[in-house]
Amino acid sequence: MHISLKNMLRQLSHLVAPRSCYCCGRTLVSDENIMCMHCLMDLPRTGQHLKADTELLSRLCVLPERTHLGAGWFYYDKTSPYSRLIHAAKYYGRPYIMRVLGRMFGYELKQSRGSAISDAILLPIPLHADRRMLRGYNQSLELALGLSDILGCTVSENLVATRRRRPHALKNRTARLSDSEKLFRLENPHELNGRHLIIVDDIITTGATMLEAMTTVARDMRLTGTAPASINFLSLGITRNF
Ligand SMILES: [Zn+2]
Repeated sequence: MHISLKNMLRQLSHLVAPRSCYCCGRTLVSDENIMCMHCLMDLPRTGQHLKADTELLSRLCVLPERTHLGAGWFYYDKTSPYSRLIHAAKYYGRPYIMRVLGRMFGYELKQSRGSAISDAILLPIPLHADRRMLRGYNQSLELALGLSDILGCTVSENLVATRRRRPHALKNRTARLSDSEKLFRLENPHELNGRHLIIVDDIITTGATMLEAMTTVARDMRLTGTAPASINFLSLGITRNF
């Protein structure tokens, strides 16, 4: 029987360091990836993508532009074992975790939303250039690529960061930001004209970053006389108290 060197090394590496679930530590079997089947089944899913009308949508839909999809995949709690996945993906140089999670969420979205979102453009929340250089990747871009692998959407890095993100609470949703306060801008609004847009972030905590991104997209498109078909959003995790 012919065994390639690559396969042999892979099998040996499993013997030396078995792959284990990031959440519970259980050894993964061959068709499991990053998370075991038990943890995947027990994931505290929000089911938000299955509903047309959720509190989340009503809270983040403050724009005149249409929003018909707004969802986090699971409830995020930084003390839960699931937060280890996010932590490893963001701070331990493992972008593939985000890509795999994006594919997992993508499968569930495809079952409920199917082809309705395949022609959408995914816009990952950008990282400021110096943070991206330090980390080596943007986790939201990896997540969007994972979603795109399954859903077939286009991923565009049209939304760019103008400066570092600052921590802020969702205080005044209608506050108009001065130019110096803007976190994001669109590089090419015309590319998005008439398209369904989905902004993608890893975790929604206060909602402030997502709201700002949605507002930026709407504003920059209006300024250039263009308009999206809709502005939507997706995240992996969302805090329960949001
Ligand atoms: Zn597990």
